[in-house]
Amino acid sequence: MAETIFSKIIRGEIPCHTVYEDDRVLAFLDIFPLSPGHTLVIPKEAAERVDQLSDESAAAIGRVLPRIARAVMQATGATAYNVLVNNGAEAHQAVMHVHFHIIPKIDERGLGIGWKAGKLEASEAEALKKAIVTAL
Ligand code: AMP
Repeated sequence: MAETIFSKIIRGEIPCHTVYEDDRVLAFLDIFPLSPGHTLVIPKEAAERVDQLSDESAAAIGRVLPRIARAVMQATGATAYNVLVNNGAEAHQAVMHVHFHIIPKIDERGLGIGWKAGKLEASEAEALKKAIVTAL
């Protein structure tokens, strides 16, 4: 995996506003926040996307993500938030190191979402389900 700015943050070569750290996980404030408290939770493991993350790192993030989200909500007073992971440049990923955004919704500030929903057809659903189950 190519070196990213988050690798440098993990190694302490670039400063960040750390809110949580353990052996496998680092969480810090996003430098260009969508709303106050916008936090990034990242694995220390070098992986670009969620699907490339080891079970150990995934478990470590899953264990602390709710706790960090609670703390962000408590600190900001927000009552709603989005957890977002962009995977791949086409999906708006700019830093190619897995990161979970915790984005509080505060008034109009927070994540804006374009959600152009389709309709799941039964025939399509069956084929997709089989393909995914087979791949798992
Ligand atoms: P994404 O589009 O999901 O890859 O988002 C990358 C995020 O990293 C953006 O929200 C940036 O504001 C944030 N970011 C980039 N560099 C830094 C940095 N040095 N410290 C904190 N956040 C950063």
